[in-house]
Amino acid sequence: MSEPSLASSALAEQIDAAARAIEARVIAWRRDLHAHPELGNREFRTAGVVQAHLRDLGLDEVRTEVAHTGVVGLLKGAFPGPVVALRADMDALPVTEDVDLPFASKVRTTWNGEDVGVMHACGHDCHVAILMGVAEILTGLRAQLHGSVKFIFQPAEEMPPEGEEGGAKLMIEQGALENPVPQAVFGLHVTSRLPVGIVGYRPGPTMASSDRFRITVQGKQTHGAAPWLGVDPIVTAAQMVLGLQTVVSRGVDITREPAVVTVGMIKGGVRENIIPDSVEMRGTVRTFDEEMRDDIHERVTTLAEAIARGSRAGCTVCIQKNYPVTVNDPALTEAMVPTLQRVAGPDALRLVPKVTGAEDFSFFQQVVPGLFFFVGVTPPGIDPAKAYSNHSPRFFADERGLVVGVRALAQLTCDYFELKA
Ligand SMILES: [Zn+2]
Ligand SMILES: [Zn+2]
Repeated sequence: MSEPSLASSALAEQIDAAARAIEARVIAWRRDLHAHPELGNREFRTAGVVQAHLRDLGLDEVRTEVAHTGVVGLLKGAFPGPVVALRADMDALPVTEDVDLPFASKVRTTWNGEDVGVMHACGHDCHVAILMGVAEILTGLRAQLHGSVKFIFQPAEEMPPEGEEGGAKLMIEQGALENPVPQAVFGLHVTSRLPVGIVGYRPGPTMASSDRFRITVQGKQTHGAAPWLGVDPIVTAAQMVLGLQTVVSRGVDITREPAVVTVGMIKGGVRENIIPDSVEMRGTVRTFDEEMRDDIHERVTTLAEAIARGSRAGCTVCIQKNYPVTVNDPALTEAMVPTLQRVAGPDALRLVPKVTGAEDFSFFQQVVPGLFFFVGVTPPGIDPAKAYSNHSPRFFADERGLVVGVRALAQLTCDYFELKA
């Protein structure tokens, strides 16, 4: 295999050296963030740490309070060229940490009216620390940069609290991708699914769209001993749960893309001998294609309504679109694979399967061609298939993955500049 010609090896070596030099500080930043996790739209301390760092570096611009707590920094290279956006999400989860670490989170807060522990159980602390490191490295190389870099520190990737807006969508609405407009956006996620040292990627649809639905079945309450006097929403809801299983299995071309329809909550009735007035169901839809997404929404709605009609029940179906499909631009991905290969090293870059989880990085990709990739953080000796996954109270990140992320984002940026020169 020949060395990819796009890489300016001198600059690549400088980045690697700078990454080695900054690794200990990136780990220290990550530990500090890990000990002080904050939920979505509440990343006040985290945003403070980020903006102080970016201001110390002397970036050309630092915008704060974008989408509540987001921070956007701009670094102009010495030479004209394209604009690359790099994104890190900052929020933690309502999870009580169960890892024995000196910097384990002891933070608690109120969420949806409940007292909960807060933990960086998705590893966004790693993402913030990595991007702070990248900002410092690229600022140090400013005199050699043929383009500009936008550093996007994003709040509320895990969804804003009920009743609030937030995340990537709101950042875009508030101009995060304007003045200047980037030509490419890169982001990464640390994952328990890969061993530390491994980088994973996939061209095209990579993570699913995620939408939630709520179906209310309106019956007519009556005595459980005389069902003919009312309309039973429980039996109707049961028919719907089974009917919804056919939306994907009978209606979707699964040779094109997979899809999932799950009913995750069903609620109705208070007593064995009362047929209740109504039943509420909630569920989620995952797809890898925007057309299939719309088609499934339509099928869920018409099927639920038809089953209700057949049972003489009423029915309202409400589908809330959350995150679009995370689609890695095929041309951009192909162009950047040699960079990821060089960063990962021989045998350490993997083509990974689709993920039915979702990412709001997808909103950035709807505006700008983007590449979202994965960095392994499962320690050697642990089978990633059995490791505690992201979102688990026992999620553990091997910090040797951080420098891989730093090198990857910095090298992708510089190689992109070179490709477009
Ligand atoms: Zn997550
Ligand atoms: Zn995440």
